[in-house]
Order: sequence, then structure tokens, then C-alpha cells
Amino acid sequence: MRQALITVRGVVQGVGFRPFVYAEAVRLGLSGTVKNLGSEVEIRVAGDRIDDLVVSLRRGPPLARIDSVALGPLDGPVPEGFRILPSAEGARTGLVPPDIASCDRCLADIDDPSSRYSGYWATSCVDCGPRYSIIRDLPYDRPRTSMDLFPLCGDCGAEFTDPGSRRHHAQTIACPVCGPRLSLYDADGRDLSPVDPIARAAELLDGGGIVAIKGVGGFHIACIEETAVRLKERLGRPEQPLAVMARPDTVESMAVLDETDRAALFSRERPIVVLEKRDPTAHEGVSNLHTIGVMLPYTGLHHLLFRRLAHTMLVMTSANAPGYPMVTGLERAVRVLSGIADAYLAHDRRIVNRCDDSVVRAGHLIRLSRGYAPLRTSIPLGPRCLLGVGPELSANATIYRDGHAVTSPHVGNVRNPETLAYLVETIEKLGDWLGARYDAVIHDLHPQFLSTRYARELASELGVPAIPVQHHRAHIASVTQEPCVGIAIDGVGYGDDGAIWGGEIFAGKTSALTRVGHLEPVPMPGGDLATRYPERMLYGVLPEDRILELLGARGWPELERDVLARQTVRRINTPLTTSTGRLLDAAAALLGLCRERSYDGEPAMKLEAAAARGRAEEWPLQFRTEGGATVLSTRALMGELADRALRNGGRPVVADLAASFQANLARGIALIAIGAARDLDLDRAALSGGVAINTAIRGTIAETCRAAGLDCLTNRRLPLGDGCISFGQCVIGAALLE
Ligand SMILES: [Zn+2]
Ligand SMILES: [Zn+2]
Repeated sequence: MRQALITVRGVVQGVGFRPFVYAEAVRLGLSGTVKNLGSEVEIRVAGDRIDDLVVSLRRGPPLARIDSVALGPLDGPVPEGFRILPSAEGARTGLVPPDIASCDRCLADIDDPSSRYSGYWATSCVDCGPRYSIIRDLPYDRPRTSMDLFPLCGDCGAEFTDPGSRRHHAQTIACPVCGPRLSLYDADGRDLSPVDPIARAAELLDGGGIVAIKGVGGFHIACIEETAVRLKERLGRPEQPLAVMARPDTVESMAVLDETDRAALFSRERPIVVLEKRDPTAHEGVSNLHTIGVMLPYTGLHHLLFRRLAHTMLVMTSANAPGYPMVTGLERAVRVLSGIADAYLAHDRRIVNRCDDSVVRAGHLIRLSRGYAPLRTSIPLGPRCLLGVGPELSANATIYRDGHAVTSPHVGNVRNPETLAYLVETIEKLGDWLGARYDAVIHDLHPQFLSTRYARELASELGVPAIPVQHHRAHIASVTQEPCVGIAIDGVGYGDDGAIWGGEIFAGKTSALTRVGHLEPVPMPGGDLATRYPERMLYGVLPEDRILELLGARGWPELERDVLARQTVRRINTPLTTSTGRLLDAAAALLGLCRERSYDGEPAMKLEAAAARGRAEEWPLQFRTEGGATVLSTRALMGELADRALRNGGRPVVADLAASFQANLARGIALIAIGAARDLDLDRAALSGGVAINTAIRGTIAETCRAAGLDCLTNRRLPLGDGCISFGQCVIGAALLE
């Protein structure tokens, strides 16, 4: 009989790994023990079929991510039978898994009148339920989670220790007798017990009420579609599209799904999936774009709520202000949502780590959060431990250690002390779980960002270097570590020259990405005002009398037009930008699609929605060389759009113009990249940035590159927008340190 000491590393906590080992060992007639060591699992084993066990371990249970299975010699006796031992502290190199949607078997338990879980909203097992959101520390055992306040009843205790149960060692096991409780509260936060909370909440919702619901990672605000306009008014965001949660059997009737969408929608991560509406004008109250964000119920609570609801769809939006951290506690929810929510459906399981819903579109992540994060990426970045603190907007953080980068869930816009504190808290927790001892801290090039200041202070405290990395180079490095032509199309990022970049083409290796092309720098009259009022941006791109006339026709007083013209000529509070996002804003303004931006990305999203119904035609493009870089003339492109849009006689078709503008801009950007690739003998393009979320623009760039024999890579597991920056910062930081 052989003996062995087996160490398994990876995401092996909270995934039912020990019960899995137990079941396999018993099946293979092996004796021994299995034990959690923080972020690895140690197995002491004796028997003839150890090699078969190793094969099983490499596969692992469904939620596990196995990095390595190491086999070593074992001295000393191994006890008879097989046992799961209590956890011990050990090496911290792994990570807890994300929160996972309720599995079908748990939902069946909830629906089974004879089950002791019948009707219980917090039913879970080793394959499903909350994880990241409830964990205080590793190893992952109930006392180190917010389930510690709910001691197991006799039945749950028996199931927890029963090797035959799928809740064997399920740390989240709970039932109506011993588990967390749900209550309904009125608008002032008064407990309405003993009403049936779910039945009454469903009644309120069906009747047009607005109910805040405590979910896995924070509070949502929910209402039926008919109430959406009132909700948006109460939130002060009348234009913003909101996500919905829909009964699975109703999604096909409202949106067009392909296999990729379907897979994402029904995945255990259960993100919001941005889908194309079947009828672009339907569900206008929820989303006035051609798309709608849809997610399926992902907890027992959602499941039970939809069983009671007469409606098949609920608007579901995070209860926080955009860019701010999720609201997790009832008291705070009642304060923040005063005058908005009519009632609160909340439970007493504390949310330790907040986690927003993830967002996916056409198989690409837009927001990395619940279900996916913390995201672990195997990547060889060398021996040093690194921290990337991310950008300012849509920020998160990445920690690299020992061949793995771990990216945190979405944090928000780090523009205020509250969100900065949340970023720091997230970094400190992840760093502690990973046993990180940073050798360098990497931050954005922008000297004034709160995250830059934090990174510098932390680095000086630790006596390690603080490394600045330019925003758009981080985008490219998040796609590939190989030499490439990088295409970063984005809102705004601080450039090498202090200007506002955002339409950049680079070439070279990760540590030395040279700017070989960009969009034409144009003034942003009034700085941030040009972001809020895209007609200002339009005049920045095309400072012509006919634009002033257009503004006059739209009601701009002569005085304001004079100020705008003088401000632009004299460059008073008028920085230069190469931003792709701002250029799209200007095009939306020209076509009359958006005059004031009321949420992030609104003008460009409205341009995309208009373009979705249009047919693109090819327009002439103009390029020039400036300081060794190829520049696409966006003034010429905007001039083409203006010629067609303002032409007398014959109504120009806005949809076709929007589609043409997008397509020609995308083609121009791709042509610069193709030229650079030929000059430098590169065969790979890397595309990233918030504008790449636009499927038409991304598609045109990728097709144009491929037609020229250039492979075009984009972000997949990391967001296309700024959620990939902290990861890219680590990649470039590691390359610079080498
Ligand atoms: Zn389950
Ligand atoms: Zn119980």
C-alpha cells in the first residue's frame, strides 16, 4: 500500500472541495485526511489508487479552479477510514470564489412542499450561494463568514456532517429554523412583521410600488415596467436606461439572443446581459436605446418573488448613485432612498463585501463584479508582488503574486473620499487574503487622481517604487503581453504630454509601447463643460460659422455663441483632446441626438442606437503625419458629416449618417494600425477601451484589420472599458521592473 502527501492549490475554498475529496477517496477505497490550509488543501492519503485520486483532483468539483496538484512523500501512520479535518492557517496564495447563482437542485428544494427548505429564500449548497460577499477571512469556514450569527439547528448540523449530502460541509447551509430571516419594512424602515414579506412585496410591486430589495452584494431598487418612468424621475435620471430582471421564459419575446448571449444569461455567474430589443421602440420607459440589459433571477429570494408576481419582469437597478459604492445596510438604504422606495425587502445576513451586478455584452465584459470577481488570471509576470490601483472611473484593483493576478470587483468612480475608502478597503482585504507583500505599487499617470496619491503614499510607507503607467498603454497591456499594434479607443485618459488622450495607436512591446498614431487633437471648449454639453464639443471639432448658426437655430443666445467662439479661438479653459468618446459625442450633438449628457456615455450610446438602424457608406478619409505619428483628421470627418446633415433639400437619414460616421471613424483608426503593423513587421493588433463596447465600431476595426492579415485581439475575461486598467498596470509595471 502506498502513502502520499498531496497539496492542491488554486480556488479550492468555498467550492465544496473537501467534500469532493472525501467522496472520491471513499470511492477509490483510500484512507486518510483532508484539510484546508487557508488557500491550499492538504490531503494525507494511503491506498492503492492514489494516482486515480490525483486525476480526479486535477479536475476538481465544478466551481474549483485548480492551479496545481503536488504529490510528495508522507511519513508516519495514516488513520483508518477517511476524515475531513478542521481548517488551519496556511499559505495564502489562493482565493475565495465569487458569489454563484442558486443551483437548480436548491431551487427544486425550495419548490418542494415536502422539503425542509420549502419556501426558504436563503437555501444553498456546496455548489451555489453567496461566497465573496459574506467572507471576512480565510480559510473559508462558517465562523469567518457573516453566517457565524446563525448556529446550525439539529437538522442542518446532521446534513453538514453527512458525507452523502450535497450540503456536506456547505458553509452556507441554513434553513427556516436556524438561518437568516427576511422581513418587509415600510418607507421609514419600520418592520411590518408578521406579514409574509415576499407575498406582500410582490403585491406592492404588482400595484406599481417601488421596493428596495437586499440581494447578494447590495440593495437593488425594483419596480414593474409601468412604474419605470416614475422611478427614473424619483432618481433624477430620466434618460438613463435601467436593467431588468425577467422570468427566463419571457426573454426571447423581448430581445434577440444568440448562443453567446444565451450562455451568459443562463450561466451560474448570472450577469446583466445587454441584448438587442426585438422591437427597438419597445420598453421605451426602461431603455430608450436599441438595447436592454437583462438578467435572470439568481437567488432563492428572486425565485420566490417571481413565483408570487403577476408581472414577468422587474426593473432592477442598484440602489447607489452611479459611480458610488453599493448600499449594503438597511439603515443606510432607508436614508439614501428616502422619497424613492415605498418599502424595503431585507434580510439579516450581513453583506461583508459589496458586489454590484456584472454586465456582459456580446460575450465581452463591461463590468466585472458579482459572479466573476474576484477574478483570478494565470499570467507569468515574474517574481515580484505588484499592486495596480486602477484608473479614476470604473475603477477596481489588481494584485499580482506568484504567477496569478487577482482583480477585485468593480469599485466605482474614485472621485470622492467615499469611493476611495472603498477602493482602499478592497485592496487591504484582497492583499491580506493573498498574503501580498508589495514590491511595487502602480498607478495612473495623472498626478491629481485620488488613487495616484494613495498609491504614492502607500509606496513610500512600504519603501517600494511607485510606478506611473499611461492609461491607454494599460488598456493595450491588458489584452496581450506580446509585441503588437495597440488600438485604445476610449473616453479620456491623461497623456504623456499632459493632453487628454483617448484615440491612440501604439506599437511595440509591453514595456515600450510607442505612440505611432492618434486622432486629431481638438479643443474642448470649457473643459468638462464640453463633456456635459456635447454641442460645445461639436464646435471644438468643427469651429465653423455654420455650426454657430446651427446652435443659434437650436436656441443658443448670441452672447453664448460669441463666448464659445472666443473661448475656442483663445484657448481659454480649453484643453486639447484626441478622445474617441468626445468625438462620438460631438457627432451625436450634430445629429440632434443628445444636447445634454445626463449619464456616463449617453451621447455616444444614443449615436450607436441611431446607427443600429442605418446603412454605412464609405467617406473619404484624410491622414497627415505629425511628430512621427499618423493623425486621422477628425475635422475632415466631422466636416463630411456636417455637409450631409446640414445640406439643403432632401431629409438626411440620421440613422445612415450615424452609421457612416462610426464606420468611417473605425476604418480610419484601423488603417493607421495596419500601416504601423506593416512598417514594424507586427502581425497582431490589440483593441481595448470603452468605445470598443460599441459592437459596430469594434466589428469594423476587427474586420478591417483581419482583411489586411492582422490578427485582432480584444479583452474577454476583463472589461473592455476601464475595468481592465488595474490589470494592465500590473503587466506594464512588471515589464518595466524587469
Ligand atoms: Zn445549490
Ligand atoms: Zn437549520
